[in-house]
Amino acid sequence: PKILEGIGCPYCGCSCDDIKVVVSDDGKKILEVENACAIGTEIFLQATSSDRITRPRLRQSDGSWKEISYPEAFDYAAKAIVAAKKPLIYGFGSTTCEAQREAARLMELGCGILDNCASICHGPSLIAHFDNGYPSCTLGEVKNRADVILYWGANPIHAHPRHMSRYAIYPLGFFKGNGFFERTVIVVDPRNTDTAGIADYYLQVKPGHDYELFNAFRMVIYGFEKELPEMVAGIPKQTILEVAGILKQAKFGVFFFGMGLTHTDGRNHNIDIAISLTRDLNQISKWSIMAMRGHFNVAGANRVWCWSYGFPYCLDLTKGNCAHMNPGETSTIDLANRDEIDLFINIGTDAAAHFPIDTVRHLKKHTWITIDPNMSMAAEIADLHIPVGISGVEVPGIVYRMDNVPIQYRKVVDMPEGMLSDEEVLSGIANKVEEILAQE
Ligand code: SF4
Repeated sequence: PKILEGIGCPYCGCSCDDIKVVVSDDGKKILEVENACAIGTEIFLQATSSDRITRPRLRQSDGSWKEISYPEAFDYAAKAIVAAKKPLIYGFGSTTCEAQREAARLMELGCGILDNCASICHGPSLIAHFDNGYPSCTLGEVKNRADVILYWGANPIHAHPRHMSRYAIYPLGFFKGNGFFERTVIVVDPRNTDTAGIADYYLQVKPGHDYELFNAFRMVIYGFEKELPEMVAGIPKQTILEVAGILKQAKFGVFFFGMGLTHTDGRNHNIDIAISLTRDLNQISKWSIMAMRGHFNVAGANRVWCWSYGFPYCLDLTKGNCAHMNPGETSTIDLANRDEIDLFINIGTDAAAHFPIDTVRHLKKHTWITIDPNMSMAAEIADLHIPVGISGVEVPGIVYRMDNVPIQYRKVVDMPEGMLSDEEVLSGIANKVEEILAQE
């Protein structure tokens, strides 16, 4: 067997690139996986399972599937894009940056909407970055320097299983040689999570009252502790004063926040004030802030489209390459709920599983195309399902980790014979659209 080291894991935003994979001599089967967590290990082991769909499937009028070729699938998708008034492509959490670039070309040609999972996860964080900056750092700096770690609205034990062991709490860093024993862990969350269980301080904030608690910390930092009420957002004044003291004394503190903060009352304003608190703390110590991004390359789409158009998600390209972004107006769920979308392309995520059911019903009134390696809900309800190679396992490419550090992912095994990657599929459809438009 061949042993491949330094492989990237294509699952969560930790984008661990220290995975060791043992591959059979013929290079077709993954036999063993080392260093990955249980989720990451399954991603690799399932990749070479025998029940993969390897050819595009087109829904027939009686509801059954008919296997078609890739060129036939490109033809179907291209004609649907040209015919649509407002096509929309959404997803990209599990695709490479190369595919994200091709999707942008496709929507420019098709004059449609380009959106990614940030629309339903860290979109509020990105809006707050526009308003208030983003004093962040790399996960390497966290590992080597951080002595206070604050998780707010995040439960990495379940959502990012190696975040604490590889980057934040347990690893032995250059300046933190005793790892866990030299770090203070604070968790703020309405739910008493497993992550809260290992914290030195757990603050069970009242649901929807995070903004008030941020304000309380800022009051203490600005010296207004006397004006603080006895209880703020369900947390006693004494606890707030104690924790604020730890924040102020940190040599290098890092504030990780998750969707518990972006998807509660306040949304982008919570992140806005979190950034302000980080900035306040930097007057007296050293602090950084970082979003716990969900999928392994959800940050990549935001990077690629920012370079290309200046906006990270919800891009309206209905006027070609002249993009604008206005979440609420140009975001997938809002557009779908207003019935403005007449062609939906889902790639690298499962919109059918994650969107509200009414939104899925609106989108299903029109053609739905799913580009995904897996038999997901989005694939099962699609009119056309185009299977692709698994990015990071069968397809190499650039990936942006949650700290926005780009990583070159390598290929571990070959795709099943005749299959194509996301990038090749999007490029094939875009070429076909160009051909049709040239004939008109
Ligand atoms: Fe993969 Fe995330 Fe687990 Fe790392 S923590 S091995 S990226 S699933």
